[in-house]
Amino acid sequence: MKSRTKVVVIGGGIAGCSTLYHLTQEGWSDVVLIERDELTSGTTWHSAAQVTNFGMNQTMVGLKTHSIALYKKLRDDPDYPVGYNHGDGGIRLANTEAQMQGYRHFASMARGMGVTYEVLDADECARRHPLISTDNLLGGLWDGEDGDIDPAQLCQGLAFHARRAGAEVYRQTSVTGLRQHSDDTWTVETDKGNIDADIVVNACGYRVNEVGAMMGVHHPVASMEHQYFVTEDIPAIAEAGYRMPLLRCPISDYYSRQEKNGLLIGFYEQDCKTWGMDGISPSFSNDLCPDDLDRVMDVLEGAFARMPALAEVGIKRVVNGPITYTIDGAPLVGPIPNKRNSFCIIGLRAGLGEGGGHGWLLAQQIVHGEACYDTWCIDPRRFTGHTNVELTALKAIEDYQNEFRFHFPHEHRPAGRPAKTTPLTPVMAAEGAEFTVVNGWERVDYIKPAPDFHPTLGFNFDETFDVVASEVKNVQHNVGLCEMNGFNRFEITGADRHAFLDRMICGNVTKRDGRVGLGYLLNNHGMIKGEATIANLPASDRGPARVWYGSAAASEFHDMDWLTDHLKSDDDVQIKSLTNDQTILVLAGPKARDVLSSCARGDWSQKAFPWLSVREAFVGFAPVTVLAVSFSGELAYEIHVPNASLYAAYLALRDAGKAYGLRLFGARAVEAMRMEKGFLHWKADLITEFDPFETGLERFVKLDKGDFIGRDALIARRAAGPTKRLVTLEVATANAPAHGGASVVMNDKVVGTITSGEWGHRIGKNLANAFVDLDIAQTGATLELDLCGKLVRATVIKPSPYDPDHALMRG
Ligand SMILES: Cc1cc2nc3c(=O)[nH]c(=O)nc-3n(C[C@H](O)[C@H](O)[C@H](O)COP(=O)(O)OP(=O)(O)OC[C@H]3O[C@@H](n4cnc5c(N)ncnc54)[C@H](O)[C@@H]3O)c2cc1C
Repeated sequence: MKSRTKVVVIGGGIAGCSTLYHLTQEGWSDVVLIERDELTSGTTWHSAAQVTNFGMNQTMVGLKTHSIALYKKLRDDPDYPVGYNHGDGGIRLANTEAQMQGYRHFASMARGMGVTYEVLDADECARRHPLISTDNLLGGLWDGEDGDIDPAQLCQGLAFHARRAGAEVYRQTSVTGLRQHSDDTWTVETDKGNIDADIVVNACGYRVNEVGAMMGVHHPVASMEHQYFVTEDIPAIAEAGYRMPLLRCPISDYYSRQEKNGLLIGFYEQDCKTWGMDGISPSFSNDLCPDDLDRVMDVLEGAFARMPALAEVGIKRVVNGPITYTIDGAPLVGPIPNKRNSFCIIGLRAGLGEGGGHGWLLAQQIVHGEACYDTWCIDPRRFTGHTNVELTALKAIEDYQNEFRFHFPHEHRPAGRPAKTTPLTPVMAAEGAEFTVVNGWERVDYIKPAPDFHPTLGFNFDETFDVVASEVKNVQHNVGLCEMNGFNRFEITGADRHAFLDRMICGNVTKRDGRVGLGYLLNNHGMIKGEATIANLPASDRGPARVWYGSAAASEFHDMDWLTDHLKSDDDVQIKSLTNDQTILVLAGPKARDVLSSCARGDWSQKAFPWLSVREAFVGFAPVTVLAVSFSGELAYEIHVPNASLYAAYLALRDAGKAYGLRLFGARAVEAMRMEKGFLHWKADLITEFDPFETGLERFVKLDKGDFIGRDALIARRAAGPTKRLVTLEVATANAPAHGGASVVMNDKVVGTITSGEWGHRIGKNLANAFVDLDIAQTGATLELDLCGKLVRATVIKPSPYDPDHALMRG
């Protein structure tokens, strides 16, 4: 065994083998994989090993497409051919129109990644899968790339090629401890001796938290028992003369694929079971849980009803093994929060299909700092702080029970709620609030018109349309109050705080006390990494001179890592998170100044407190920090309140607001209004796949201000010229909003992708943002949006169609 290496990957299942292989593909050969047993001794060996191309966003589709291309290459490799049945096809079934509409949306989204899904009616489903009945079936989504792979051969194949490129694999070697040194390198302790490494990767499957504990980390990953059985031969399969397509059934929660001339059927029963919550026996390796088919009787019946031939044959083999889940169903692939030089590729619940792609994106992140796609949907830092073992288990159970039921827009399932609340949450509930969930935070979505108001889940505009319109109208004409909880907020102190931020932000950094600015952070490739509001507060009895750095609600761990990674040892800069201590109350509308003036002492006139000002004050007797900024486009104030005083500030504002028609509004109204202003959302419109020029943010870039992170790369990108441009579209339908990921087409060719969309109630238009090809990013260009399978006209319009000169918000 080596005594030193660049990267140690811990775990020799598909996650570890794929990471090792791709590290070598990205050019790093001094890399090592350590496996406590033989390769594929964890979940991988007994996997049903179906490989599908279906994903619910473009990153997932892209990484699965990579898996399939890689697996085909490995299948065709003369030196180590891997058994891979590619192209059997697969059907995701549906028995509701809403599910069918969802499939049409996913087909639109996948088009942009060069992937074709077909939406089939029930008869066509049965024609392609002759074993199924069409009872209670509307149709399905066909994915022609689906197939299955030999999991052990796959891992051996990846390890074979990695070894050939210089990597080493140490089998029968257990990692027993991890020690990090002051220079952020690691000593990996094993039962065969120690190995020093720059970087460690946790790829330990269901043992993820054993290795997590070695570095003082708890990962939000829980294991569930999961069963499938394999039937005896079914004569109709042999007679068909072709391999049966895969099936995924959200109606009765099972899947199937062909295994020899029988079927393999796997179940997601409602009466499901977590596994290993209180520790896992060290001897559990190449092992299974006891069979328990009684538990799956509820879903078994559905499978038999769909495929009556099952009743004619016996069961040859049952497999019950642990499978890992996370808080939101997607794995955790990327940097481990607050632990430098450490990464994970964990929580894979479809690791055989996805593992090729996840290892690819992880290796890119390790070697280049970023992957070719924006990886936020799998970033381990997307949950902050609330993801303890009990909450993780609750979400894992819920997700398992809904395995094939995708989330509809605005759908938030009940398990693990409310995870994060403020003192106002029960108050808002009593006011009739419906809540959305943002990184665990319960945030007011809108105020329900009646207690039993339950809008229809789906992809069209729903019953909330008029509710949101009315909230927007009151903000536009009077004044509204909205609790925007969970926003990330760092207090940055120290003499070098502005010099430091100048290094981090690509534009001017506002430095004057009492002033606020907006800045963008780029990665080393010159792409958009983050967005921050910078507010400068002078020294006061509340603290020393400081910057308040505000950013999106889920960005706390992400931004903290990025900032602290770039602190130099001699920087006089201290960064403290206030995210969980303070909550924002947004006061917006033409009468916002009147309300503020009547409950907060001081001169709030336009002259004394103009747009982009910040000041400490009291609302009633609650200490607050007020920013004159607006996301709605109306005159507005962000009032930041310590949580202990939040209710007091709220009462004072409500009381003062009575004379001015103050009403509550929620996140849905905010979303509608920000679309009309052309303001952008982090990780919807602001992603690492585009630079600030492509994103239309040139006014926030100052290339001549001196060095900043990403500057050289950005200069090179500018010289090469952009390929896409973010534009605002007016969509010619009042039936449905444009959904993120949907394809924009011209002459049947995909020319762009929607990043967000919502109805603009003040201008009466259906609005969307989209990255489109440069040559058509011209005002007036007429395109088409593939909106859940229907083509609707989409015209490029000028950005910020509501009050384009920003006169209202300047007050
Ligand atoms: C019944 C069943 C059916 C499934 N069907 C499918 C399917 O059809 N398609 C699909 O895509 N996915 C499927 N999955 C999921 C898929 O199998 C998993 O997502 C995947 O195998 C996980 O791989 P992994 O590498 O993350 O974990 P594992 O395969 O568990 O690998 C982790 C490895 O880490 C090693 N390790 C742990 N601790 C240490 C240590 N301290 N030191 C050294 N090594 C250590 C373990 O020995 C193990 O080999 C199924 C899962 C189950 C249970």
